[in-house]
Amino acid sequence: MKILSTEGLKKFFPIKAGVFFQVVGHVRAMQSVTLEISRGETIGVVGESGCGKSTLGRTIVKIYEPTGGKILYHDENGEEHDITKGLGKNVRSKFRRDVQMIFQNPFDSLDPRMTVRDIIREPIEAHNLLSKKEAEDYVGELLMKVGLYPEYAQRYPHEFSGGQRQRIAIARSISVRPRLIICDEPTSALDVSVQSQIINLLQELREESEMSYIFISHNLDVVHHMSDRIMVMYLGNVVETAEARELFNNPAHPYTKALMASIPNWDPEDRKLQNIKLEGEPPSPINPPSGCPFHPRCPYKMDICSEEMPGNFEVAEGHKVACWLHKT
Ligand code: SF4
Ligand code: MG
Repeated sequence: MKILSTEGLKKFFPIKAGVFFQVVGHVRAMQSVTLEISRGETIGVVGESGCGKSTLGRTIVKIYEPTGGKILYHDENGEEHDITKGLGKNVRSKFRRDVQMIFQNPFDSLDPRMTVRDIIREPIEAHNLLSKKEAEDYVGELLMKVGLYPEYAQRYPHEFSGGQRQRIAIARSISVRPRLIICDEPTSALDVSVQSQIINLLQELREESEMSYIFISHNLDVVHHMSDRIMVMYLGNVVETAEARELFNNPAHPYTKALMASIPNWDPEDRKLQNIKLEGEPPSPINPPSGCPFHPRCPYKMDICSEEMPGNFEVAEGHKVACWLHKT
């Protein structure tokens, strides 16, 4: 059962300057993203900072208005709604309950003046799901579910460690029983020792309630753990999509291979790839390179690469690559 899909989703941010704040250019944060996510499925979105992966998450939950493209939401009756258009109150409220987001920094996303109880109770009340008394008991249950004590309900966010705060944010997001959670780098602000605990918690929750995740990370290794399918983004474009195992066994795009080469213990046989340095910054999304966005860093660059944007070529079933090397 499909939950959400996007078609050619695009987000440009205007750059304003001068006395009259004229628009002088655009940050092309997301060029065109097409994806589809089903019940119980996890899609990993991976790429360096600035590749558009957070913009994708934020555009889906409507923090940002898309510049173009569609976001199609399927409610629990399988009815499709284009949420980029104006929605009726009913559908809007269903969508806001069904699709939740967890952010990188659990401190920023929790209001410091609210107790944990009020933080977790807020969305339940906003959606009129339970009475005040019922919500109180439910908060205790949720805290236990995410591995915290029910007594923590009366405390404030600053009294907790980063990992505990992320658990609180997770409790809040699952309180309304969403069908999809967008996790934007949910572990990258945490100590390494806590990261795998949070990943395990998210996995347990998914198994329990058949939730879906869009799991955004710059770390291919973390994404590999979580995902059924993986989408690799570079400079606002999707450059490769495949089942997680297929992507790891047969990475096809030079950029994906370079990302893998930066994972410890992954030994690239290909000498050219050992020379791709991903430490530097990718080119600016204000003036992206012509043709293939990866061409300035690509050791396989051909003449056509700087002239024409490659299409999406299918190299195996469900495995698509935007690279001229794989033209079929
Ligand atoms: Fe490299 Fe050309 Fe493929 Fe782009 S299209 S990744 S520049 S070979
Ligand atoms: Mg980000």
